Amino acid sequence: MTVKQYLATPKLMVCSAKILAIICAKTTILRLDRTIFHPQGGGQKADKGLIGSAVVTHVTHNADCVDHQVESAEGLAVGDTVQIKLDEDWRRLNAVYHTAGHLLAAVVEAIYPGLHAVSGHQWPGEGRVEFSGNTPATQISAEEIHARLTADLAQSLSVTIESDPFQTRTIRIGDYPAIPCGGTHVGQLGEIASILVTGIKAKSGRIRISFEAQPSPGHPQASFTNLEVRT
Ligand SMILES: [Zn+2]
Repeated sequence: MTVKQYLATPKLMVCSAKILAIICAKTTILRLDRTIFHPQGGGQKADKGLIGSAVVTHVTHNADCVDHQVESAEGLAVGDTVQIKLDEDWRRLNAVYHTAGHLLAAVVEAIYPGLHAVSGHQWPGEGRVEFSGNTPATQISAEEIHARLTADLAQSLSVTIESDPFQTRTIRIGDYPAIPCGGTHVGQLGEIASILVTGIKAKSGRIRISFEAQPSPGHPQASFTNLEVRT
């Protein structure tokens, strides 16, 4: 089993972990006793980074474990305690896109009560949220959505984890409704410079709203820490 430490301490960028398994098949996979790598899923890309000196190229869920694909496990052995380190810029960009998707969903649902967010895809450069409901795409105003998004960013609303982070984790932005989520997020909306609605269209009975997001370049990196996990 891998403890998914990113659920409880999402700002942790470096920690130590023990190697539980090294699987050499088509790809080389490392399993750890705990991880700060977010596996791909929930519309969000996998984290990148290092396990010891091994470059992590992909991360996936595998039952109650997390599989870290690496370029090579040379020099590593089962039982080793290693330092694991995230690519911070990549994490930040994905957290920005993922949080932007949440905010867009909340804002659209607030403005158009007839719409309900049903899926999201927050890969950088490919952001979109899909809504069910019978509000025609032609009645949805990108300008109105953009104005509210911009106001929320300007207020730098907080993004908080509520409930048990490992069992019943929910995410709340400001006073918007909390929703269940296992992804990674910014701690406050001030870490997002802008969210731009790039498209609104009807697709297969749903409304798809596409967006682009930009991290705040000047935002203090102090919100990301290198503290060791204490267990
Ligand atoms: Zn989320």
